[in-house]
Amino acid sequence: MGHKQLTFAIVGAGMGGLTAAATLRRAGIDAHVYEQAPRFERIGAGIQMMPNSMKVLRGIGIEGKLRPTCFQPYSHLNREWDTGRVMRELPMPESMFGAPYLCMHRAHLHSTLVSALPEEIIHLNKKLVGLDQRAGQLTLAFADGSRATADAVIGADGVHSIVRDIIIGPDAPIHKGRIAYRAIFSSELLHGGDIGPSRTKWWGIDRHIVIYYTTSTRSELYFVTSVPEPAEWLTPESWSAKGDVNELRKAYEGFHEDVRAVLEACPDCHKWAILEREPLPRWSDGRVALLGDACHPMTPYMAQGGATAIEDAAILARCLEEVEGDDIEGAFRRYEEHRKPRTSRIQAISSANTWMKGGDEDTSWLYGYDAWNVPLTPSEAPVHTG
Ligand SMILES: Cc1cc2nc3c(=O)[nH]c(=O)nc-3n(C[C@H](O)[C@H](O)[C@H](O)COP(=O)(O)OP(=O)(O)OC[C@H]3O[C@@H](n4cnc5c(N)ncnc54)[C@H](O)[C@@H]3O)c2cc1C
Repeated sequence: MGHKQLTFAIVGAGMGGLTAAATLRRAGIDAHVYEQAPRFERIGAGIQMMPNSMKVLRGIGIEGKLRPTCFQPYSHLNREWDTGRVMRELPMPESMFGAPYLCMHRAHLHSTLVSALPEEIIHLNKKLVGLDQRAGQLTLAFADGSRATADAVIGADGVHSIVRDIIIGPDAPIHKGRIAYRAIFSSELLHGGDIGPSRTKWWGIDRHIVIYYTTSTRSELYFVTSVPEPAEWLTPESWSAKGDVNELRKAYEGFHEDVRAVLEACPDCHKWAILEREPLPRWSDGRVALLGDACHPMTPYMAQGGATAIEDAAILARCLEEVEGDDIEGAFRRYEEHRKPRTSRIQAISSANTWMKGGDEDTSWLYGYDAWNVPLTPSEAPVHTG
């Protein structure tokens, strides 16, 4: 296959970009990652990895590194904000979808992904500012004045993607006037209290909070919220913006005592603007394709933004591996045709914030998806937000 001698440039070393580097290399493709940050910061947040993304991580050889240290919740538990009534509980044993459901520190996942790649293929301090596509050859221009060439480019540069701006045109993400507070801290601060064996989402009238442990020893816990934000607050640097813990506690007055105990114990917090976009008209242009939040950013309410970026990486590599000759454009089209129906469906349900709020709707289409083995036909799925 001709493409195997080609070089791919991946813009962005987030979860999607790093996973793509690993899946492309697994397919025998030369890949380099260009990241704007001068170093990897340890972002204080948790992340849930469901069986659908764990299967991809298994394929690139890092499941075994995560498993011993991460928290494996008994179930997805959904409770009413004040009474604590169980609205829906989905136990998630590993046997159910063929892979574990793990919760962890985001930095742990990130550093484990980095450890799966040769150091020399990750280029830090490379902020992409321009991209020139000519006669099958791409030139990437970086803010430090340097350049790189590649035969194809993957834009894995997140919700504020410059690659998307270049190939689709600029537009602003949708900010629906909601923010997410988040905090990660030692369980010792609970003074013997226990948040239970599950990942619990507490559903309020116009707000919610999700709480879980991030380590197998339950030494650390994490929560993330969604609350209306009266002021228009939005920043591209939302990972590092500090929140006010007293405002946060006030926003959850009247919630169940188990929630209040966690918020009382919390020493400080950060906040994010919650951003999303409508599905894009297309994900690629010539030999440039998008992946992850760059093409399907979503609200975090199904915990699938990172997971779908990770799935994208496996499908992209499979499409490239199966291509005839070096028809990269064809592989990119096939990748989009397969992925877009699924990610659009997840974007829509996430936006509506209805996932597992009650009922007994089937969850196997989401968690049972196996990106390594699913047929590479366009994925099914009428949009259903109920
Ligand atoms: C509150 C909250 C909770 C979440 N919880 C979960 C969860 O539990 N499970 C889950 O699966 N997902 C979760 N997500 C979603 C998840 O964080 C994102 O979907 C995921 O990080 C997307 O990965 P990505 O690689 O596409 O983009 P990013 O992680 O945003 O990475 C993009 C990278 O590109 C770099 N970059 C940007 N511009 C340039 C440039 N010009 N040049 C070079 N590099 C550049 C950035 O520095 C960054 O490193 C959550 C999100 C939020 C906000």
